[in-house]
Amino acid sequence: MTDLRPAVGPVLQPTLDELSRPGRGVTRVPHPPADALAGIPAEQLRARPPALPEVDEPEAVRHFVNLSHLNFAVDTGFYPLGSCTMKWNPKINEWAARLPGFADLHPLVPDAAAQGTLQLLWELEQWLCEISGMRAVTLQPAAGAQGELTGILMVRAYHRSRGDVERSEIIVPDSSHGTNPATASMAGYRTVTVPSDARGGVDLVALRAALGLRTAALMLTNPSTLGLFEDQVVEILEAVHAVGALAYMDGANFNAVMGTFRPGAAGFDAMHFNTHKTFATPHGGGGPGSGPVAVGERLLPFLPAPRVLREADGSFRLERPGERPASIGRVRSYVGSVGVLVRAYAYLRAHGGSGLREVSEDAVLAANYLRHRLRGTYDIPYDRVCKHEFVASSATLHRETGIRTLDVAKRLIDHGHHPPTIYFPLIVEEAMLIEPTETEALETLDDFADALVTIAAEAHTDPDAVHTAPHTAPVRRLDEATAARQPDLHWRPMTGAEMPCPD
Ligand SMILES: *Cc1c(COP(=O)(O)O)cnc(C)c1O
Repeated sequence: MTDLRPAVGPVLQPTLDELSRPGRGVTRVPHPPADALAGIPAEQLRARPPALPEVDEPEAVRHFVNLSHLNFAVDTGFYPLGSCTMKWNPKINEWAARLPGFADLHPLVPDAAAQGTLQLLWELEQWLCEISGMRAVTLQPAAGAQGELTGILMVRAYHRSRGDVERSEIIVPDSSHGTNPATASMAGYRTVTVPSDARGGVDLVALRAALGLRTAALMLTNPSTLGLFEDQVVEILEAVHAVGALAYMDGANFNAVMGTFRPGAAGFDAMHFNTHKTFATPHGGGGPGSGPVAVGERLLPFLPAPRVLREADGSFRLERPGERPASIGRVRSYVGSVGVLVRAYAYLRAHGGSGLREVSEDAVLAANYLRHRLRGTYDIPYDRVCKHEFVASSATLHRETGIRTLDVAKRLIDHGHHPPTIYFPLIVEEAMLIEPTETEALETLDDFADALVTIAAEAHTDPDAVHTAPHTAPVRRLDEATAARQPDLHWRPMTGAEMPCPD
């Protein structure tokens, strides 16, 4: 086990409260004006100073730096988390987003003082129109899931504007992302699930049977969460439009098809991008993100307001309140997650059209390479050319050795890799959804494949080592169910045997 490289730092850190020693902190305000507290009503003054931990500056800095070593990050290692696109984020995008002209701009400055930012947003919309084949884009939604909701609210506005108020259902294939049915419910629709066929595509017979005058829209994750491109798109869109419904594409994984597939040209009515996945922004810690929605002709009037407009003289301005009455209104404060959009713009401009196509080709190549390397060791339930990700399964390994996908994932941590997404998609038993992304070197892909092959062999020779993994991480198996259902987020001093860290 000595040759294993742990994925994260080896020891947990004491909390700042545990490090605290009376008198060590800097709690005094230098040179307070004599009457600093005079104007504050007595009942709003504290009786005692707050019980903040008292640590000196080096200790505080080391505490946070050491904590950061417990994190696994794209900056520290390979992160093949399927569907999440944890790819390398070029650091130059961080420089661009931090330029004071963007970062320090007050969100409420008059348009005349924000011309550069407005121009960037306007140009970004043009780029997104171009690569999606759509008519227009809203940059407002703060994440992919909010983009979906924005899209479906526009679908609802479209049907209502035509007096078509009986449509109450959204059709979602069973290989779609979980946010799709969640979006349908939030927008007040009933979700109708259609199964996948044996090849992993939408079952067309089932889809046709589900479609009708009650259908408001189909939400299609494409590529699907099986990593497969839906090659019956033409037939699907024809069937959806034939009953007067609209077609929404979940394009969160657009990094798989840039330059090769334009949803607008194919006939989709709306789609969202996840700029933080496809065009790089560090993500995974809960935000911020950005989920621009691109629409075709039918949904154009309903786009959220305000849009960025270019005037005849070449200047830019935001739409004024009420200027476009059919709009569904605002879905987020100001104009969107501007810092994330600046990164997306920088990424798009750095790559250009042919570069974006190459990004997608590399993502697809890496995923297919790993699929080939794991074939024969793990099950590959849909073993055909995939897009940016593919599903492997430990079902056979489990039957032969008792080792499950969870054990394999935990053992990967001992090999220095972040595990893939596991037990998703739900339609594959013992699933591992592996997304290598376009940015990894061949050596890294090989190292990851070797680790998975080693673990499968170990499952036969030393199943206990796999079953009790990870062995090198600061914590072992966590009780995730209790952590999710009864989170204990309150700090209190611990004593004796309770202490998780050495004193
Ligand atoms: C990530 C993802 C989403 C949700 O995006 P968020 O930005 O996390 O809200 C939706 N659909 C698919 C296919 C995704 O991969």
